[in-house]
Parts: sequence; C-alpha cells; structure tokens
Amino acid sequence: MSMMSRSLAQADPEVGEIIGGELERQQTTLMLIPSENYASRAVMAAAGSVLTNKYAEGYPGRRYYNGCIYYDEIENLARDRARALFRADHANVQPHTGTSANMAAYYAMLDPGDRILAMKIEHGGHLSHGMKINFSGQTYEAHFYGLSEETDQIDYDNIRDIALQVRPKLIVAGASAYPRAIDFRQFAEIAGEVGALLMADIAHIVGLVAAGAHPDPVPVADVVTSTTHKTLRGPRSAFILCRADWARKIDRAVFPGVQAGPLMHIIAAKAVAFKEAQSLFFREYQRQIVRNAHALAASLQEESFRLVTGGTDNHHLMLVDLRDQDITGKLAADLLEQAGIVVNKNLIPGDERSPDETSGIRPGTPGLTTRGMQEPEMHEIAKMVARVIHEGRDSEKVLAEVRHQVLELCEAFPIYEHLP
Ligand SMILES: *Cc1c(COP(=O)(O)O)cnc(C)c1O
Repeated sequence: MSMMSRSLAQADPEVGEIIGGELERQQTTLMLIPSENYASRAVMAAAGSVLTNKYAEGYPGRRYYNGCIYYDEIENLARDRARALFRADHANVQPHTGTSANMAAYYAMLDPGDRILAMKIEHGGHLSHGMKINFSGQTYEAHFYGLSEETDQIDYDNIRDIALQVRPKLIVAGASAYPRAIDFRQFAEIAGEVGALLMADIAHIVGLVAAGAHPDPVPVADVVTSTTHKTLRGPRSAFILCRADWARKIDRAVFPGVQAGPLMHIIAAKAVAFKEAQSLFFREYQRQIVRNAHALAASLQEESFRLVTGGTDNHHLMLVDLRDQDITGKLAADLLEQAGIVVNKNLIPGDERSPDETSGIRPGTPGLTTRGMQEPEMHEIAKMVARVIHEGRDSEKVLAEVRHQVLELCEAFPIYEHLP
C-alpha cells in the first residue's frame, strides 16, 4: 500500500494510539467545559480533506496563486452561509482563531495607542480584550468596566460613566465567563453617546445567537467577531461579520494585515458548520442547551451551591462560587476529573485567589447537550458534582462510585450518536 492511502493507525501507530486514547477519554468522561463541543463527522471530514494542500492567499476572484477554482467556490459558500445565518452585510471567514479575529478587527478599527474599553478579565472578559500580557494590552490603551458589586451583573450606567470619562475609540462587548444575557442595544447606545465604535465578541454565545436564543448584536454593532468551535459546534476557528461600510477594511486587516495563507480545509469545515446551524435540528439543540443550563443551575443550587448572579439566563454556562465550600476551584476541578467529570476552574468576581487556584468553577451544557442529554441527566450530574466536591477529598470510594456512574451515563449517551 502506498504511503498516501494507509490509515493513520497503520502509517503512524504512535500518533494513532494517542488519538485513539483521546477518543476514549471523550467517550468516557462528562465534558462540562462551556467553550468546548463535539464537531460533527461532516465538519471533521471537511477539516481532514485535501483542501489542506493548497495556498489561497487573497480572496475569491483575487488570489495570489493559480489553481484556486475550488477554493473560491468553498470560500464564497462559507461567506454566503455566514451572512445568511446572521443576516449580516459582510462576512470574513479567514481568521484562524477567535484571538486572530479580534486582532484583525482591532487592526481594522484602531491605531496603536488608541483607547479601548472592555470587560475586566477577572470579571469574565477575554485575554484578547486588553490584558496587559496580550498583544491587545500592549498595542492599545486598555480600560475596563467591571460587574456590579451587588448583582455581579453588567451595570450599563457604570459603563456609560466610564466611557464618558475615558472616551474610548472602541467599546468591546462580550465575555468568556458571564452567565447572563448581554444587552447589545444598551452597549450600542453608550457607544453612540461617546462617539465610540462597538465590537461584539460572541465567541461563546454564537450558537445561541444563530438560533435566536440570545439577543443579536449584528444589527447594532459595527463589527462582530466569533469563534466557530464553541456553541457553533464547527471546527476550531473563527470569523468576522460587519456592516457593509467596514467590509473592505476588515478584509484588508485579516489579509494581508494579520494573516497570510488561509486554512482552506478549515474554511470548508466552517461552511459545513454554518449549514448545520441553519437547520431546525440546530435551533432545537440550542434551545435544549439553555433548558439544560437552567436545569443544571437549579439542581446545583438545590445541592447548596451559590451561583454567581444567582443563576444563568438565556445562556449555556454558570459560575459556581466555592468560597463557602472550603475548597479551591483547582482542587474541585481536579477531584471532579478523577471521577470523570471535566470542568474548568474559573475566577469569580471579587476572587481573592490566584488564577491558578481560583474560587470557582464554570460548568456549561453545550457538550452534554450534543450527546443528547436532557434535564433529568442534568439533575443527576449536579448530584454527582456535589458528592465529589463535598466528600471526594477524603474518600477514594466516593470518587470510584461517581466514576462508575459517569461511565454508565456516558455509555447511554455516546458522542456522535446524536448528531445528524
Ligand atoms: C474563546 C474566546 C475567544 C478566543 O478564542 P481562541 O479561538 O481561543 O483564540 C475570544 N473571545 C472570547 C470572548 C472567547 O470566549
């Protein structure tokens, strides 16, 4: 058999075995990380296709390489589907990741040294929103808004006050760990009042937005950036939407501004994901994510956990405050992993612990929902989480018992069984 046609396992048993191990891990653990998901077989087939073989620098009809006929077709398809799905004037599907999408958006809208205003990282913002050790904090003068101390929710009046003082050129609306719906209209009003541009980063909530289960920033923001691998359930990548007047600047900022050759196989996979997201099946999936988030939040509260903001609305994640539980986020997440439940630790508003330790965890429901789980399973999982956090530290037996329960649940809901 030629080198080209052997299976991965035959051609490279070492790598094949590692990937096999990872498939086994995914099959046998409950994944509650809200920024992860399971891409469909069709998405993975496109991502693993021969489209990885070609350079296609430029845009459809204006490539710097010959032989791009199918690359123009696939990129046009991806752009058209993204525009239709989000009712946007323009889409750029070339950004490699969420952070490169943000980098390109800033590059289009700002000059070095310009002021931006975004949510504090410790309160749920993303590191590409002006963190000191990130390019965004190095290149632009970043100012921040926090959450209300009383409600842990966005305080729009406070943002307006800060914006009036700071006079930012750009306001960034969006977060990685905020359990409430974001009111993009209020952000747009504030931006209008202070003469700022508005960028919405919907990396986390994009699937909900596509399905009409979360307020839509597209009509009110100048530019919208997003990942494709979180709630959208596509390949690990990103895209940018914008109004027609920004189209040229955004395209030039992505290429040649911050990227060269696009990942055309990943763009093909994004096209597949956008098509999947247009289906009724996907809308129902997003609505179930929200119902499951409500069920998980309510069940965790029944188990005596305090949730930041008291719950989750219109969303897919929640923040559990562990300060009254005598355990750090890190230890809780490590114990849960021993029992086969994968969550990430997370800072909570006002956290006095370091980002390595934290006082919270950030469970979410997109992955569990992809497996076909519903409210009864959320209830069961909340009970398991509580048992591990309350008793797991001192009892190998408890960890083993929960591990066994997790395996049974995983067997009943195999990944890839519930996708079209
Ligand atoms: C995940 C995320 C990103 C960045 O995604 P990467 O693909 O990891 O670069 C950007 N913004 C927000 C709000 C996110 O949650």
